[in-house]
Amino acid sequence: MKFIDLQEQYVAIRSDCLQKLDELFKKGNFILGEEVRNFEEEFASYCDAKYAVGVNSGTDALFLSLRCLGIGPGDEVIVPSFTFIATSFVVSCTGARPVFVDIDENTYAIDPSKIKKAITKKTKAIIPVHLFGLCADMPKILSISKAHALAVIEDAAQAHGAAMQGKMAGSTGTFGCFSFYPTKNLSAFGDAGLVTTNQKHMYKKLLQLRDCGRGKKRYVHSVVGYNSRLDTVQAAILRLKLKHIDEWNDARIKNAAYYSELLAGVPGVSIPSIPHGYRHVFHVYSIRTRKRKKLIETFQKYKIPSSIFYPLPLHLQPANRYLGYRRGDFPVAERVSQEILALPIHPSLERSDIEKVVAAIREVHRGV
Ligand SMILES: *Cc1c(COP(=O)(O)O)cnc(C)c1O
Repeated sequence: MKFIDLQEQYVAIRSDCLQKLDELFKKGNFILGEEVRNFEEEFASYCDAKYAVGVNSGTDALFLSLRCLGIGPGDEVIVPSFTFIATSFVVSCTGARPVFVDIDENTYAIDPSKIKKAITKKTKAIIPVHLFGLCADMPKILSISKAHALAVIEDAAQAHGAAMQGKMAGSTGTFGCFSFYPTKNLSAFGDAGLVTTNQKHMYKKLLQLRDCGRGKKRYVHSVVGYNSRLDTVQAAILRLKLKHIDEWNDARIKNAAYYSELLAGVPGVSIPSIPHGYRHVFHVYSIRTRKRKKLIETFQKYKIPSSIFYPLPLHLQPANRYLGYRRGDFPVAERVSQEILALPIHPSLERSDIEKVVAAIREVHRGV
């Protein structure tokens, strides 16, 4: 049993992919161009967003969004304390300060009821993360952001195709940031990312920032920019894969439903909750248990792979020590990081694999 199956997606696109790559290699098209423009249009349309800009990575997608907003030294940006580290590093990289907020015990997303207390005169934006493939509570977050005139940058790196109340991840914030890192639900054969937005002026700014601040005239640069272009080859691969994303997400959702059916009622184990009206795309299927150590040992005995996302909340990361947070500051994030464990969930997982995983979980929790 594999934790992640990087081959399954290739099998689905192999012949089209090889033909396309041969075409691109023959033409010598490697940077931006028609494939990138087409992918941007198709992905924007998939997300119900007006515009999309392909970039180098999910990290760059977040960073360039912050740069578009002019965020820098002296500013503060609100970030959940439990997510992948890139969500806060991008804020630090602009010179602004990440301000952490605890998460909701059930959804693992930022807890909207705790955001207001973190807002100061210096706050410029909120970065909700649609963690594991489940959207954060966007209606509440957007109403707070409106009241305080803050931008909202959706970190949708784990949430391609996720939705809530009919709204797609990446369609309601000022920006939506996606990663196509090889293990994500929609993935490139290397690093790649993308930003969505509904605002034309932000779209234009993003196009400039990702391409060395280029203006209309050749070698005349109007703003300080970066090289964060999406490779033509990656865009071509992503276009082929985009046709399958709903089918792959549906397979994840089906696997998750089977896990949850079998695990319901196992004492001492909590299963992911899906709030009413949400489409959770299960980038990650995590359970929580106080017997995590024992469970991992048992999994190893049966050769069942598992993984911890994430063992250390952001406010306790050594790299973030300079921000001055302490253990105890965000009790929910701290508790969750001690108890959480991700099970294999990829689309090609067999029902018998799921049954095997569940049997091992039952063995450890017998008589709890
Ligand atoms: C993967 C990920 C990122 C970063 O994306 P990269 O493409 O690896 O730079 C950011 N935020 C979250 C929540 C992620 O899961």
